[in-house]
Amino acid sequence: MKLTIIGAGDAFGSGGNFNTCFHLQANKINLLIDCGATSLVGLKKQHLEPADLDYILISHLHGDHFGGLPFIILDFTRKKRTKALTIIGPPSIEAKTLLLLDVLYPDLIDKIDRNLLEFIEFESNQKQDLHDFKLQTFEVIHSPPSFPNALKLFIDDKIIAFSGDTEWTNNLIPLADEADLLICECNGFKTIGKGHLNYQTIIKNQHLLNAKQIILNHLGDEALENQDFFEIPIAKEGLEIDL
Ligand SMILES: [Zn+2]
Ligand SMILES: [Zn+2]
Repeated sequence: MKLTIIGAGDAFGSGGNFNTCFHLQANKINLLIDCGATSLVGLKKQHLEPADLDYILISHLHGDHFGGLPFIILDFTRKKRTKALTIIGPPSIEAKTLLLLDVLYPDLIDKIDRNLLEFIEFESNQKQDLHDFKLQTFEVIHSPPSFPNALKLFIDDKIIAFSGDTEWTNNLIPLADEADLLICECNGFKTIGKGHLNYQTIIKNQHLLNAKQIILNHLGDEALENQDFFEIPIAKEGLEIDL
């Protein structure tokens, strides 16, 4: 199984990084974890084919995490897609995505094969079997209207955990438990920002995060300016992690 980092950045393009997006190539399927506004460009930069995606998982409804969906759907018009894409996200993911699509590309929805586009909504603190993998969701602390969740995937024989955007919450402890990889947001260095983690908080609580490997993403300017002090690896675009 291979995880490729497509977008490691925050909403502000800090450091010139793309919005959050991770590509996972598993035994039988390909999926994205989050699909920020820049994700189609990011995928093509890594020479990955959008039509090969089977699933896109969305942690919460902010543009740097789901704003790339209209472009992925626009890519359907290249006619390369032969299999369904299932988008899995919090409540209203379908309505919000179709609204966004209508704003950006009016009439596009009428031009694509709706049999190729499916939506599944999840609730927080739920574990569901999606046939190709199991998905567990954890409520986290971030802007409530965005329905913020951390995601834990049980796929093939691996566990991948993703914090989404959040400040410290004890829900990160079961999220990380026994994960082969924890991708954890780290927006700041020492300043406590509402709804976000900083590096010093992560270091203070690192002993509680029982994951085999941790990488930090979503670094803002303060975190990037202090990245030389980091003792936990930082997500870099283009990096491939074998799991
Ligand atoms: Zn974000
Ligand atoms: Zn957010």
